Amino acid sequence: MLFITLLLITLSFSGCIQEEESNDEKETINNIDELDVCSILPDWKDGEYHEYYKTTDLLNEFQIKYPDLVNLFSIGESVLGKNIWCIRITNEKNNQVKYNCLIDGCIHGCEWEAGEACLYFAEYLLINFGKNESITNILNVTEIYIVPLLNPDGRQADDRFNANGVDLNRNFNIDFGRIRGGSLRVGTVLGKKVFTYREFPRLHKWFSSFPRFLLNCGRRPFSEPETQALRDLTYEIDSHDLSFYLNCHTAVHNIATPWTAFNPPFEMTNQEKKIFTYVKEWVAENTEYENADLSFEGEGYKASGTSTDWCFKEFKVPSFTFEILSQDYEPAAGGGKHDSLVHWMKTTLPVFMYLLVNIENLHDWQIPDIQPPLPEDVPPTPLS
Ligand SMILES: [Zn+2]
Repeated sequence: MLFITLLLITLSFSGCIQEEESNDEKETINNIDELDVCSILPDWKDGEYHEYYKTTDLLNEFQIKYPDLVNLFSIGESVLGKNIWCIRITNEKNNQVKYNCLIDGCIHGCEWEAGEACLYFAEYLLINFGKNESITNILNVTEIYIVPLLNPDGRQADDRFNANGVDLNRNFNIDFGRIRGGSLRVGTVLGKKVFTYREFPRLHKWFSSFPRFLLNCGRRPFSEPETQALRDLTYEIDSHDLSFYLNCHTAVHNIATPWTAFNPPFEMTNQEKKIFTYVKEWVAENTEYENADLSFEGEGYKASGTSTDWCFKEFKVPSFTFEILSQDYEPAAGGGKHDSLVHWMKTTLPVFMYLLVNIENLHDWQIPDIQPPLPEDVPPTPLS
C-alpha cells in the first residue's frame, strides 16, 4: 500500500516523464512549482497601443519568431472586411492530446486594454517557453487560443459596436433580445448604423442611469460576422474538448461568471456555483480585481446575449468575464482614458496564469486551488 502511494505521488510530480508513456491521456499539470518565479515580462512601454494593423504586425512577428509555438489564422472577416485573427499557442512538437482554452478581447472596440492584455499574455508565454519551467510545462500540455481583436472595426473607430452598430456582446444565442437584459432588437430596421458609442455620454442628460436597454443586439442571434466567427471557432475548439473560456473587457475592475442573462435557460448545479464562487474569491484575494458578486440570483447587473453566458450554456465549461482597468477609465462615463498600459497589463497576468495552471481542475469542475507562479512585481501595487 505504501509502495503504491509513493508511486502515485512520484507519478503526479513527474508530468514530463509521463508524456512519453501516455499518448492518449491528458497530462496532469500539477507538477508546477510555486517557487518558480523567474519568468520575465514583455518589454512594453506605456502609450504604445496596438490598433488593428499593429496587432496584425505583432501576431505575424510572433509566428515568424516562434514557428514551433504559434499558429496564426483568420477565423473570419468583420463587417468592413478586416481579418479576425486567432493565435494558437502550444508546443507544436508535442502532439499528445492537450487541454484547450479560449481567451478573447475587444468584443467592445473602445475597450482597448482588453485586446492589449491578450497580446501581452501571448508574448509573456512565448518569451518564457524553454526558459521557465512552469510556462514550458503549460505549453507542453495546453493549446491556448487567443482572439485579441474580436471587433476590429470597432477598435479602429474607437466604438463599442461593430460597423453595423450592433453590440456584439448582446448578439449571442442566450436569452436573446430581452430589453430587461439590456438588449434591444433593432438591427437594420432603422437604417444600417443605429448607434455609436459616442452618443452615450449625451444620453445621460435624459436618463438618470445608463440606458442599457438601448444596446442594439441585432435582429437575430449571430446576425453579425464577428459573432459567427467566434461561434464557429468555439465549436471547432470544443470538438477537441474546450476546458474554459475567458472574455476580456474594460473597465469595471472585476471578474464575473454566468448568469448575467435576465432569464437563464437552466439552473446551474451546486458544483458549478461552487467553482465559479471559488474563482471569483481567489481573484478578489490575490489580485486587485473584485468579485462581481452578481450572478446566480436575481439582483444587480443584467446582460442577455453575452458570449460568456452562451459558452457556459452551450458547452458547460467554466466561462468568465474579466473586466480590466477600473471604473475611472470607463468610456461610458465621459470618454474613458488610456494610460498606465504596462501597469494594467501586469494586473492581468495573475488571472490568466491562475486559470491556466488550473486548467485540468476547471475542465473537470474541480476546485481550482493551484497557485500560479508569477514574476517579480506581479501583481503590481494598485494605482493610487
Ligand atoms: Zn465591454
